[in-house]
Amino acid sequence: MTLSENQKTFFYIIVAFIFSIAVRFIWVEQFSSVEQFKFNNQFMINTNDGYYWAEGARDLVNGFHQEGDLSPIDTAASQLTAFFVKILPFSFETIILYMPVFLSSLLVIPIILVGKSLGKLEVGFIAALLGSIAWSYYNRTMVGYYDTDMLNIVFPSFLLWSLIWAIRTREDKYLIFTSLDIILYRWWYPQSYSLEIAFFTLISLYVIYQYINKEDFKFNLTLLTFMMFAMIYVNGLIKLAIVVSLFIFLKLKKEKFYKVIFYLFGLALILFLFSGGFNPIWGKLKAYVFKDSIIVTDLDELKLHFFTVMQTVREADQIPFNTFANRISGNVIVFILSIIGYIWLMIKRPIMLLGLPLLGLGFLATSGGLRFTIYAVPVLALGIAFLIHEVAELFKNKFLKYTVLVVLTIAVLSPNIKHIIGYRVPTVFTKNEVLVLDKLKHIAKREDYVVSWWDYGYPIRYYADVKTLVDGGKHSGRVNFPVSFSLLSDQKSSANMMRLDVEYTEKRFWIDKKEENLSTDKKTKLESSNIGWMALDYGYKNVNSFLDTLKTDIKLPKKTRDIYLYLPNRMMGILPTVDLFSNLDLQTGNKKYNTFFYISRNFRENLQILDLGQGLRFNKQKATLNIGNNKVPINSLIITKYDKNGKLQVEKKDLNPLANLYMIFMKNYHQILVMDARVFNSTYIQLFVLENYDKKLFEPVIMTPLAKVYKLKI
Ligand code: MN
Repeated sequence: MTLSENQKTFFYIIVAFIFSIAVRFIWVEQFSSVEQFKFNNQFMINTNDGYYWAEGARDLVNGFHQEGDLSPIDTAASQLTAFFVKILPFSFETIILYMPVFLSSLLVIPIILVGKSLGKLEVGFIAALLGSIAWSYYNRTMVGYYDTDMLNIVFPSFLLWSLIWAIRTREDKYLIFTSLDIILYRWWYPQSYSLEIAFFTLISLYVIYQYINKEDFKFNLTLLTFMMFAMIYVNGLIKLAIVVSLFIFLKLKKEKFYKVIFYLFGLALILFLFSGGFNPIWGKLKAYVFKDSIIVTDLDELKLHFFTVMQTVREADQIPFNTFANRISGNVIVFILSIIGYIWLMIKRPIMLLGLPLLGLGFLATSGGLRFTIYAVPVLALGIAFLIHEVAELFKNKFLKYTVLVVLTIAVLSPNIKHIIGYRVPTVFTKNEVLVLDKLKHIAKREDYVVSWWDYGYPIRYYADVKTLVDGGKHSGRVNFPVSFSLLSDQKSSANMMRLDVEYTEKRFWIDKKEENLSTDKKTKLESSNIGWMALDYGYKNVNSFLDTLKTDIKLPKKTRDIYLYLPNRMMGILPTVDLFSNLDLQTGNKKYNTFFYISRNFRENLQILDLGQGLRFNKQKATLNIGNNKVPINSLIITKYDKNGKLQVEKKDLNPLANLYMIFMKNYHQILVMDARVFNSTYIQLFVLENYDKKLFEPVIMTPLAKVYKLKI
């Protein structure tokens, strides 16, 4: 039986698609018996940001959401998810879990079609097998990695395919394919412009080349015109209408169309410019050229100094070459051979120069972060596949030729599959943690706020269907400050701050929404942080003095809703980071207190010594702590444990009332904490670790070992 070219293409696409999906099921198989990774009889997702899109999709399916709840109902990812939920017979959890698997595997289609355009279907097939499961592409599109990545490479790869075919065949239909792909890509991922601009620039250079050499460049100029119209910064449906009308014009009056092509091109450029098309590029350029002037401190209108998240993320280190190569090709040798293969491919087929924007963006990873490596994956997969194919071609014997093809393909796939087998990513939350939030959903109202650190913002909003102050996208120094302050100050200050920040956040939202003309006084307040605004309202010029008053009974704004405090054990490890955001003199930006907080989960003990690691040794008989060679006094030693009924028992041994350090042994957690008095008295430690809450301020709502929820009583 001989298959036609199209049948063969279809067959290869199906096989590669199934392969890509099957490999992604390795994770499902590995964790099939881990009940703590499941909720509602389904695996939970393993990327925090996924809960953001999930919240939007849930609200779209339900048909309502609350004003000011930050639910992303306008985003493509949420809209597409909601669409699938409506048309498919699977649960919401199943759909968000497997969407990345099926959508990211679509990558095999453009890769195989590019191979077809080279006249070498096998090259496309081998590249599709590798590209769909290559290290970094897998990491960012595996089962449960529910994020925009699932289509971020698929769209530009389709664009690469349609541009190659457009330039090669000069067939009009590719003008529409290209425009549609750009419109969809922009809808899916608004940051896509840089890649589109790169493709546009490359083709522009080709048109100039054709013009100089007096070749016919009209079709390519038409292609550029369609691309530019598809790139204008307006609603996607408007752009669709524009390109479709343009296409009809081209089809009906070709001669006339080509007569005015220069005007059309000019019009597209002007519209692009005036719709703000160059703004993002200009912004980027400024950031690169004037690197020094990038503000690293977060100053508000009142010149308050906030901590920036940038300060916690260490300056992006040079990524080691090995890591970089592994993430693109799975192996350094394969990576180098891929580059050789791609260069060879470009020499033999100059049209493959069109892969350079993708490759270039992938190489940005060396300066901009690992997440970029996925862009280089399809192009370099084509490079190595081409090399393998050319090597196999050296053999005249058909059997030998296919053996070489198969062996080399397995050789480049295996490091990636090995990586996948070892890449055992846990879910974001465990079942027991989610059960707490699910229970809270039935207690809290949708307009209520849950205060917690930003890392838990998206999952809290998704599972408990409430509002939050901070989340994975809203966590600048100025919004983190009140939350950090609430977690780390004394209970009175914490309670006052929570009420204040929630009411001010809501007030800000409504003023923003009404867009009323504000007096300059009010404008200053609104453009400053919530803290600054509060301080001004309470008549303080100095924010520190204002913060001091929170320890007292101040008059609070009118209570509009309930507030819950979510305290997970998970936060223990990042407590020092949480502290950085409020351990600040906002007037000067200087650190306020020296913090000591140490957590040991890996301690060893003998009759006399309890070794906490990192040079911390506790002498059990003398009840003294050695930090390195320094003997430091301990104020008290506290042991917590759960009794048979699951009630927390706290046993306190006072040692030295003048000492500043406290030691807490959390028996059931196998955790020992050593901390200074300020941290010890913080709301987080008192409420979560010791359940020692002020009954006038807080009320326990859900108390489990992994997470505790309190309701604010003021
Ligand atoms: Mn909501």
